[in-house]
Amino acid sequence: MKEVVILGAGYGGLRALHVLQSHQGEFHVTLVDRNDYHYESTDLHEVAAGTQPAERIQYPIEDVVNSKTTTFIKDEVTLIDRTQKQVTLKGGQTLPYDYLVVSLGFQSETFGIPGAAENALQLEDVETAKQALAHIEAQMKGYAQDPKPEALNIVVCGAGFTGIELLGALAENKETYAKWAGVEAKEIKLYCIEAVTRLLPMFDEKLADYGIDHLKEWGVEFLTGKPIKEIKPGVVIYQEDAATNTNAELAAGTIIWTTGVSGSHVMGDSGFNQRRGRVTVADDLSDPDHSEVFIIGDVAAVMDPDNQRPYPTTAQIALKMGATAGKNILHLLAGEATEKFTFHSLGSVASIGNTHAFGVVGKTNVKGYPASFIKKGILDRSLFETGGVKEVLSKGRFDFYH
Ligand code: NAD
Repeated sequence: MKEVVILGAGYGGLRALHVLQSHQGEFHVTLVDRNDYHYESTDLHEVAAGTQPAERIQYPIEDVVNSKTTTFIKDEVTLIDRTQKQVTLKGGQTLPYDYLVVSLGFQSETFGIPGAAENALQLEDVETAKQALAHIEAQMKGYAQDPKPEALNIVVCGAGFTGIELLGALAENKETYAKWAGVEAKEIKLYCIEAVTRLLPMFDEKLADYGIDHLKEWGVEFLTGKPIKEIKPGVVIYQEDAATNTNAELAAGTIIWTTGVSGSHVMGDSGFNQRRGRVTVADDLSDPDHSEVFIIGDVAAVMDPDNQRPYPTTAQIALKMGATAGKNILHLLAGEATEKFTFHSLGSVASIGNTHAFGVVGKTNVKGYPASFIKKGILDRSLFETGGVKEVLSKGRFDFYH
């Protein structure tokens, strides 16, 4: 009996599990995750803003585990020893494997900016997203007791996809924050501080402007071309003028960090040949140094042949990688050659609140209400690919006409 170990129950890990569980054979699967639930990381910003409850973006991992072929272990992975072919868990257990799928996901990247880890809220998982919302609530309720104007300021650091989607959800929920603070919604100030001036470079400028202008109409103030230099408690320090190297400060009760992500620290800790926690994998998604190890999702880097840059880390590519890794392990178990990973992006759509979105589907730009309809369909599809019909029926978003 061969042993397959899957590390991480995110999009990639659960997709690989699904493929393996759909085939019978002489193998057993062990799935490890630090949580006993899967969560839709694409929706974390909504939990942070309070536009969706945490329960709605998560489901129990046991729901998708076939106990006849798979054992689920709730523990944290600390080390992967590829020479000994075993994985060490925080609880002290070691797991030997014949084949390994590493799908340990992302962590927030602070680029070593002083105070960013300590003084800004991170958006890494369900717990940190809940903490962000609790923080906003505490700041607003604090204002009602002691009206310091900065308590009403919310700063999002970085205007990438995550920052933009977060700003949309925050703007949508301003009324709630205003009620907590006992003020009018227009008094809640939303800021975004971003290093570059050309936002969302993956979209053409007109489309990017459409999304940004929408957020501006909803009251978001963008400070662009202003790299953040330091975060002090309740204060963001950013470069105001590069020519004179002068800095400026913005005081805010809530500071949320969304300037990018890296792959899990376990990759570096375990001696993988990685950069920012991402390993450049072979054509079939295996580790170039160990063909029985498959690396997928946010810990993997796959080159886009069109531009020789790694594909951006998204749920869509993680799901596709999970399917390929699962199939490749089945090939190896059957003594067959592995297959190459190929990816054709279906496009990407950013939501701005519940009823607006913009992005590219295939080669077509989409925006406005129809785009938000497409976005909800994309999210339901991801949920289907990890959780199947059951999870889509219980968590899927069918409020398309909301
Ligand atoms: P990102 O790297 O895409 O964007 C980070 C932004 O922060 C950039 O605009 C960058 O210029 C800015 N930044 C970096 N350092 C800064 C500093 N010191 N001061 C000010 N600004 C700074 O990161 P992300 O938005 O977290 O996204 C991570 C990945 O997840 C990306 O690949 C993204 O495409 C993907 N994602 C996709 C979706 C979707 O498809 N809907 C949603 C969220 C995230």
